[in-house]
Amino acid sequence: MAKPIVGLHHVTAIASDPQRNLDFYTEILGLRFVKRTINFDDPGSYHFYFGDDAGSPGTILTFFPWPNASRGSIGVGETAATAFSVPLESILFWEQHLLASGVPVEHTGKRFNEDVLAFADPDGMRLEIVGHAEAGPANPSRFATNIPAAHAIRGFFGVTLAEAAYDRTARVLEVMGLRKVAEQGNRFRFLSDGAALGNHIDILVAANPTYGRMGAGSVHHIAFRNDDDASQLEWQEILSNEGLSVTPVQDRTYFHSIYFREPGGVLFEMATNPPGFALDESIETLGEALKLPEWLEPKRSLIEARLPTIQLHKVPAGVE
Ligand code: ZN
Repeated sequence: MAKPIVGLHHVTAIASDPQRNLDFYTEILGLRFVKRTINFDDPGSYHFYFGDDAGSPGTILTFFPWPNASRGSIGVGETAATAFSVPLESILFWEQHLLASGVPVEHTGKRFNEDVLAFADPDGMRLEIVGHAEAGPANPSRFATNIPAAHAIRGFFGVTLAEAAYDRTARVLEVMGLRKVAEQGNRFRFLSDGAALGNHIDILVAANPTYGRMGAGSVHHIAFRNDDDASQLEWQEILSNEGLSVTPVQDRTYFHSIYFREPGGVLFEMATNPPGFALDESIETLGEALKLPEWLEPKRSLIEARLPTIQLHKVPAGVE
């Protein structure tokens, strides 16, 4: 038996303006900018990573900020919402903090046993903050001095997948060891054992399925975490035996990855926890310098010249 999937490793989305993206996630949501690198397949664009103070798996939200990207629209076969985990009693703080920061937010009320705030990032990416009883301890960004540590985002609660149909996507989640634990209308909740970050995957079956368009604000893929390379290879075999087309292992420097498209169309990845984001810089200075994989170092000056200039504010706006 392969080691179980406990939850998400990261979520990767598309943004437009890099500075606006950086400011929203660090200053308003209080995440740490844990890695400033480039899209390895497209060295002319950034790849940003945000997370908790250490860049722990299960907290990592990453973006390809393409300055001229047009806005996407959500349809079936896509991740419709990305949810962060906070304690139940932190919902009021977040509602007020988002409103005070100029971010429209809807307190949608109870979904299953949780309290949900729905809002969007500057590119229209649909986000949620979910208050629930099992939120774990926080490891907040050392620079998020405008967010009380007790209320800090813990990492992912989970995601909602918009789907045209239920059965085949459900089957893949079950193969991955998640169990259906609840349903409410057209929403079906899958959960892995334990209370790990990013372990809630909801299938939302669309009444009138329409296809969306990838663009700014769209989630490009979601990644589940593997303990190590050996268990990733086991999962590669299990998924292939299910008839899924799984890629060979790819070296993403900070983790190793395999990819496959679930039958409903959402791109899934599995990423190893090691080696992690402290591989090429210290925990103290995460995100401060542009990091390149070794094979691109010879082209550093060319790459740097093509990237938009960005500024990382270590102290949130309005805080001395
Ligand atoms: Zn990924």
